[in-house]
Amino acid sequence: MLTVHGSCWLCKMPLALPAWGICSRCTHAVESEICRCPQCGLPSGSTHAPCGRCLQKPPPWQRLVTVNDYQPPLSTLIHHFKFSGQAELAPALARLLLLAVRRSGTWPMPQQLISVPLWQRRHWRRGYNQSELLCRALAKWLPCEFTPRAIVRIRPTATQHQLSARLRKQNLKNAFQLELPVQGRHMVIVDDVVTTGSTVAEISRLLLRNGAASVQVWCLCRTL
Ligand SMILES: [Zn+2]
Ligand SMILES: [Zn+2]
Repeated sequence: MLTVHGSCWLCKMPLALPAWGICSRCTHAVESEICRCPQCGLPSGSTHAPCGRCLQKPPPWQRLVTVNDYQPPLSTLIHHFKFSGQAELAPALARLLLLAVRRSGTWPMPQQLISVPLWQRRHWRRGYNQSELLCRALAKWLPCEFTPRAIVRIRPTATQHQLSARLRKQNLKNAFQLELPVQGRHMVIVDDVVTTGSTVAEISRLLLRNGAASVQVWCLCRTL
């Protein structure tokens, strides 16, 4: 168990502000110092211009903000958040994401947060949707609206990590439905870990097809 109330989740030192969950020294250790492409979030030579991959084959979203790669100590926190039922880690992780957004000087400030739906059965087993918990925390601090289940899965999909990139795309095609008007709105999809990005790409396309003005992706980890 990681929980020590009033102490840092990582180093266990007492916190000046218990609501933060992680002390300033550990926050610094978690943050990425890698130069990343502003569009795909992968390591790149510039934080201002899209990388070569994005120029050749841009992802459907306009911008991606991330805290770091999937590596300790961030991966330790996420593992507890996702698999050990430590839902109370959500505000501490959402705060790390907020700091990353502020550092990136993000543009334009989105109006609507979107959480990635889990297939009902997986949601039921875990008892919560980690993406929704991050959105709830962020919506308290940002002038953004958040409507849970604005996107729903309308058919079950196979577990993505066993599939090739092409099959992932096929597997997700028309898997989601939008339950909210997004015409002219600046949107942000919030997820914990983005690897190939096929899920957030499918949701981005759905939002843009429905008239969204822009789509950003904010994730705790961006890794291949
Ligand atoms: Zn600490
Ligand atoms: Zn890129």
